[in-house]
Amino acid sequence: MKNKPRVAFFDFACCEGCQLQIANLEEDIIGLVELVDVVEFREVMTGTSDSYDIAFIEGSITRKQDEERVRDIRKRSKLLVAYGQCAVTGGINRLKNNRESLDVVKQEVYGSDASLPHLETEPTKGVSEVVPVDLAIPGCPVNRDEVLRIVKELCLGKMPRIPDYPVCVECKIRENVCLFDEGMVCLGPIARAGCGAICPSNGVPCDACRGSVPNPNKKAMHEVLEKYNYTVSEIIRKMNLFGVEPEVKE
Ligand code: SF4
Ligand code: SF4
Ligand code: SF4
Repeated sequence: MKNKPRVAFFDFACCEGCQLQIANLEEDIIGLVELVDVVEFREVMTGTSDSYDIAFIEGSITRKQDEERVRDIRKRSKLLVAYGQCAVTGGINRLKNNRESLDVVKQEVYGSDASLPHLETEPTKGVSEVVPVDLAIPGCPVNRDEVLRIVKELCLGKMPRIPDYPVCVECKIRENVCLFDEGMVCLGPIARAGCGAICPSNGVPCDACRGSVPNPNKKAMHEVLEKYNYTVSEIIRKMNLFGVEPEVKE
């Protein structure tokens, strides 16, 4: 293919698990490099570039210099894609925003090293809170098949669609017994699908790592909780795990 899109992958505050999902595409990586020129990807290569057709950003923004860096990448890229929940909402890193002070968080994490200058930290932000984002790929980690589909669609000039229906839909398709009937609290009725309901299919309740569906059916969620004698505060606590603002309130 002529004029393959120049694609770069960048990381900010994160565990790098989403980059690993791409690096571990195995035989599918051949299909990927036939479609695009990967010009920068710190985790797998040493080259760098000055401009990109698509920049994929992993990780949350937690320092002033992160904001400057992501603004610079934005200027040099035609399309900017936030991938992984850290980049989309701040992800698990956002938990620190709920604590009484960042100094307490630093003290708990770094102990006597907390005042070292390179451990400076600010409230966590998702990438779109700093620069405009063209597309957000949810998940902790991202689903690599979904990322591959999205790259293909972007190469074809299409704007990919992310599922906007709940995980329960995929769970029902897989004919699982509902985990509420097994005595567990599952966020499937309000969580964004696209993962194939992988957790409930393996006996683990959904924690909405892909965020919430737009306009979740709050009434139905309340009814489910009431039926199984659970409280809304139990799901609000679970929603906070991946930096998702709970839309279902008390
Ligand atoms: S979204 Fe999850 S897997 Fe991806 S970088 Fe963040 S913590 Fe790691
Ligand atoms: S196990 Fe979870 S995702 Fe599956 S049907 Fe029940 S609530 Fe929905
Ligand atoms: S089932 Fe829920 S927690 Fe598990 S991968 Fe899917 S969205 Fe994430």
